[in-house]
Amino acid sequence: MSTILVLPGDGIGKEVCEQAVNVLAWFNDTYQLNLKIESDLVGGAAFDAYGVPLRDETMQAAHNAKAILLGAVGGPQYDNVERDKRPEAALLALRKELDLFANLRPAIVFDPLVDASSLKPEIIKGLDILILRELTAGVYFGLPRGISTLDDGSRTAVDSCTYSEFEISRIADVAFDLARKRQKRVHSVEKANVMETGVLWRDVVSERQQKIATDIDLQHMLADNCSMQLLKHPHQFDVILTDNLFGDMLSDTAAMLTGSLGMLPSASLSGKNAEGKQAAMYEPVHGSAPDIAGQNKANPLATILSLSMMMRYSLDRIDLADNLDKAVNDILNDGLRTFDTATEKDSPSSCSEVGQAVIDKLKNNKE
Ligand code: NAD
Repeated sequence: MSTILVLPGDGIGKEVCEQAVNVLAWFNDTYQLNLKIESDLVGGAAFDAYGVPLRDETMQAAHNAKAILLGAVGGPQYDNVERDKRPEAALLALRKELDLFANLRPAIVFDPLVDASSLKPEIIKGLDILILRELTAGVYFGLPRGISTLDDGSRTAVDSCTYSEFEISRIADVAFDLARKRQKRVHSVEKANVMETGVLWRDVVSERQQKIATDIDLQHMLADNCSMQLLKHPHQFDVILTDNLFGDMLSDTAAMLTGSLGMLPSASLSGKNAEGKQAAMYEPVHGSAPDIAGQNKANPLATILSLSMMMRYSLDRIDLADNLDKAVNDILNDGLRTFDTATEKDSPSSCSEVGQAVIDKLKNNKE
């Protein structure tokens, strides 16, 4: 039996995870997946209960689990908590400790939602981009960092962006692997014009392509240009390979192509160890959305689609992942929308109605 550890976290994380867990439980019962679904507190919820955002017991459970499903962490009530006890510290610790260096963020425009984007339908119709973000290095982890006071009493702040050759080459290899199963195109994105990490990034990615991926069309692009190109001509992209900071920003831009942050799933994967075990965490790209938390109106589809990625990458059930993706497309085709993707003519459904509709559709499609 394998364990799936569910960490709902804060705000809408709890609401969207509840719907995703219902879907997972349905799959588990219907297809005898032999999964044990366990749940624990993380982020602000763990801080409130235990005084820390991530307990050692939870980290141990994360190590033991086949995969983790995480909702979201954070909220304004924790803004003044010291940095290492902030909800986000739990996320960074999980990513770092499990070595989840490869963050896969697909941005897919579902046909029925083509009008939900603020971009023209002809620009985004049929879009299917995969953003691969390096997740355990770069400016969010580099040292030194901090705020200090100078002799004249004024303050100064520093964040360090560091990348080793190893960190760049292993994420490049993942990008080439993923591209090989798609359209065989990789855009590697950095700021080699002004950043040393960008120069090294460009060199190492080119070297890896020459060594292991001459079948892949590799292009280099500056991050600022990439953000513009994503809005101007997104169909030119297949896999976008980029660092931690640029990946964070570019994937939010890509979110708006798809219509809503509420539609974007993600997977964070480690390498495989000697026994072939790979740590994996699946989560929606969005945060805890305090502005709508507790109202049962959040879009649960980013989390439900994260489950589909779990079936694809951790459970080896591509067939079930395809079934789930189809069920999501079908309910959208039926006109079911939460408020974030609804147009003026739709009456929005609640988070739990959308979750239940996915299960009903899965049942129907199976019969
Ligand atoms: P957010 O993603 O929580 O929300 C941004 C906007 O998108 C809000 O207007 C929100 O209502 C909307 N939105 C987000 N998810 C939605 C969904 N599923 N359905 C409908 N609308 C949705 O980002 P934020 O407001 O910048 O951050 C809020 C908190 O979340 C902060 O504490 C931040 O640190 C945290 N955060 C956590 C994660 C994470 O846990 N991975 C990621 C981003 C932000």
